[in-house]
Amino acid sequence: MALIIQKYGGSSLETPEKIKFVAEKVVKEKRKGNDIVVVVSAMGKTTDNLIKLAREITPFPPERELDLLLSTGEVVSVALLCMAIENLGQEAEGFPGYFAGIKTDSFHTKAKIQEIQPARVKEEIEKGKIVVVAGFQGLSPENAITTLGRGGSDLTAIALSAALKADRCEIYTDVEGVFTADPKKVPNARLIPVLSYEEMLEMASSGAKIMQSRAVEFAKKYNVVFVVKSTFKEGEGTMVKEVDLKEGVVVSSVSLDEEQAKITIFRVPDRPGIAGKIFSALGEANINVDMIVQNIGRDNYADISFTVNISDLEKAVKIIEEVKKEIGAEKIIPDKDIVKVSIIGVGMMNQPGVAGRMFKALANENINIEMISTSEIKISCVIRRKDGEKALRILHREFIET
Ligand code: ASP
Ligand code: MG
Repeated sequence: MALIIQKYGGSSLETPEKIKFVAEKVVKEKRKGNDIVVVVSAMGKTTDNLIKLAREITPFPPERELDLLLSTGEVVSVALLCMAIENLGQEAEGFPGYFAGIKTDSFHTKAKIQEIQPARVKEEIEKGKIVVVAGFQGLSPENAITTLGRGGSDLTAIALSAALKADRCEIYTDVEGVFTADPKKVPNARLIPVLSYEEMLEMASSGAKIMQSRAVEFAKKYNVVFVVKSTFKEGEGTMVKEVDLKEGVVVSSVSLDEEQAKITIFRVPDRPGIAGKIFSALGEANINVDMIVQNIGRDNYADISFTVNISDLEKAVKIIEEVKKEIGAEKIIPDKDIVKVSIIGVGMMNQPGVAGRMFKALANENINIEMISTSEIKISCVIRRKDGEKALRILHREFIET
């Protein structure tokens, strides 16, 4: 008998019919003789709608109350799924996150799990019940309900797997697993059977939205092996675990981030402390900067370009306008017409020449590279938006289809 954690995302619970389908799936697994803990997200777009609702009351809702509001979405799913399970003649016990013993810090809307005391969950498992836990939420030291950041149900599932020492952790979603590229854009994309934590993390930061990054980081830290698979289609899915570097392929996936924007500051005085001023101002406003390029200075001036998430562009430009006056730069040009294309693979660590091959493949198709950044297992290029999907297909052909 195994203990299995199953997490179902919002798209798998969107309608009463889908909830009933999930209940059947869960009960089937239970009747094989396994113990099951189910972690659920809110139905469909519930969380987005709750955020909208709060903003209709006030543009900047207080975070503590926002968490209280958002946590209700997952609780609805718990209650409905328990009803559906009991309707099939199997006993179920539902828990909001705080009753499941999930303790967090006090950072509302992006709280971190500090510990899990799953005694109540274990008790109900021992009674033979299917336990259903609301994802995305916990309890702060002040006894307030917190949420774990968008996509946080993934984290609940991974953390519960670690705390309960589950035999299997299954993340059910609306795709069949992790693909070598977005199958909607690259028809030849294929399912990746096994992937390392590192590759999964790099994919998340390169525009592939499959799982919450914090959940993957947690899994890596506590060595939780998990599988990403489809709720509605049979299949093996993608297993994510520690992978021996020697077994890794050079490039396991290519991805396209279409939510990037570039800002260039022209004629910035080339002296110590200027970059510090620019980027700490952005950091203070909680704006994440991804790539940074400074060209070679001439007559004591240089141009600096960097990328931010497109949703932060306006805010970033406002901040830089202020800094510009202070440092005496010439002008600022925002550019939404860019995307970031990346190749990822643990095998590139011990394989020279991968970057050259990437740049050449793009050049052969006349695609100009504007910025480059690399990590041990990823190479990213900023290119024009119109070239994005073509670049993705070219790189997929170059590194994966051959
Ligand atoms: N419902 C939350 C969200 O939409 C948490 C989750 O789905 O994992 O972000
Ligand atoms: Mg999700």
